[in-house]
Amino acid sequence: MSISRLARSIKASPTLQLNDEAMLMRARGEPVLSLGVGEPQNKAPITAVLASAAKLRAGDVKYVPTDGMPALKKAIIAYTEEFYGRRPAPENVIVSTGAKQALYNVLFSLLDPQDEVILLAPYWVSYPEMVKMCYGVPVVITPEDGTFYHRLEEIEQAVTSYTKAIIVNSPNNPSGVVYPEDFIAELVDFCERRGIYLIMDDIYHRLVFDGKRAVPGYAYTDKSIEETHIIVINGVSKLYGMTGFRVGWAIASRQRIEVMTNIQAQMTSSASTVSQAAAVGALTGMQSVVENLRLSIQNNRDVILGELRSFTDLRVIPPDGTFYVMPDFRAYGQSSEELSRFLLRKALVVTVPGTAFGMEGYIRLSFSGATKGIIEAVERMKWALDPNAPNEIYIGDRKLVRDWM
Ligand code: PMP
Repeated sequence: MSISRLARSIKASPTLQLNDEAMLMRARGEPVLSLGVGEPQNKAPITAVLASAAKLRAGDVKYVPTDGMPALKKAIIAYTEEFYGRRPAPENVIVSTGAKQALYNVLFSLLDPQDEVILLAPYWVSYPEMVKMCYGVPVVITPEDGTFYHRLEEIEQAVTSYTKAIIVNSPNNPSGVVYPEDFIAELVDFCERRGIYLIMDDIYHRLVFDGKRAVPGYAYTDKSIEETHIIVINGVSKLYGMTGFRVGWAIASRQRIEVMTNIQAQMTSSASTVSQAAAVGALTGMQSVVENLRLSIQNNRDVILGELRSFTDLRVIPPDGTFYVMPDFRAYGQSSEELSRFLLRKALVVTVPGTAFGMEGYIRLSFSGATKGIIEAVERMKWALDPNAPNEIYIGDRKLVRDWM
């Protein structure tokens, strides 16, 4: 079969691979628990459901402008004004099928073959593949000091004449880290001076704990949205628990949005009209849904940190946001893929190996699920990995005995 070289170079999503195996196990009746997928458990906000249902009831589901329904653009402009302190024009906004497509369109609009995009490890799985899909080259920077925090000098050293952009995701999937304000300020200043685009993937920006704040990049530049090198990506998937609606957006200069609109027009046209109506409902409805989600996730964060603390040899950097934590599991095995497979087969727990995020030896655990399931999953992991844990465990009424230590 003829498969293009580029298509062959694109990796399968590691989350999906392990999930497929977990699904087969579940089909066999195994009580598999998942700390794999990052998806809030709350129902979509009622205002989103009603708004999309109204569209359906009216049978009014037609093409809308490629760059987004005017009502949704209006809601995004108001949202940006409230949370970013900037008021974009409608021509500075494009609505896409998820933040994913918005990001892809940005990269497509930016990159010539061989252009480089700097990624800060641990990075979100899709960044390197998306860069490659635009014939660009991902350049990964890993913090030298074993933390998840980068220094500007490390980034400066990686910049070449081919560097077009840097992607920053704060709070970060998979580490949960919120980058310090000083770092963001330095980075914005650096990018504006050097003419490098700073793509800020803000998809988790309000899921931040303990009164901390993920500051918008705009706070550190005097330049207008037309002139700045900051490009903002956001969406309703995570904050409103609306992953399946597939609505995200980008904010950039008019010219870039125009080019992105051309790309999207030839590829997919607008995001689904029903979903855009839902997004209007979410953005203009009661915002307590976001705060309620944030509080329940913060509680889960406290629970999982408490559970992880009782491992003998785990190094954990507590997350400041998102619903992920990525402990260093190297004391229990060097290959994170092997460890994740082992945890699935022995402990019936789905996790995601750190290699997917450019961090071998680490494993990402999602705490977006039910608290009880999180506690049980970590107990099972402890039983499977930690010699100091009791060597018997009950999974349902099945007693398992550890016989590999
Ligand atoms: N960026 C990051 C960092 C993400 O974690 C995700 C979803 N996992 C996305 C973008 C894509 O979000 P969406 O569902 O809006 O496409």
